[in-house]
Amino acid sequence: MELRLNPLEVKGYYVNLVESISGQNVFDCYHCGKCTAGCPVADSMDIKPQQVLRYLQLGKVERILNANTMWICAACITCTVRCPKGIDIAAIMEALRMIKLRENYDRIHPNRIPQDDLEELPPIALVSAFRKLTP
Ligand code: SF4
Ligand code: SF4
Repeated sequence: MELRLNPLEVKGYYVNLVESISGQNVFDCYHCGKCTAGCPVADSMDIKPQQVLRYLQLGKVERILNANTMWICAACITCTVRCPKGIDIAAIMEALRMIKLRENYDRIHPNRIPQDDLEELPPIALVSAFRKLTP
């Protein structure tokens, strides 16, 4: 896949925002892959956790923001615990979610959940989903 770098994008607005919200330095990552190897839901992600760090280092944040990765992330912090560089990848995923949600993006629409599902799903699951996936 061809990847063209724009110097204005590298360490641009979104990378600074991700670092500011998460408190992490994305340039600490040396791409060992342990985060992806331990992630229980990596198989379902468009972009794997290690790739998220690489795209951030390259300033290609739009690619991450348009992927399903941050929404699939279960916030289990396995990646954070495994990272030999001490990077809190789960916090980076949370920062990416916050950026989208602050743009008033709804990952799920509460009023579109079928009535049958509302009656079946545990309330705690619904509340968690609303907190994580709606502005
Ligand atoms: S575990 Fe840490 S250093 Fe290794 S690829 Fe993931 S973020 Fe980078
Ligand atoms: S916090 Fe998210 S990215 Fe990290 S291991 Fe868990 S599900 Fe995967």
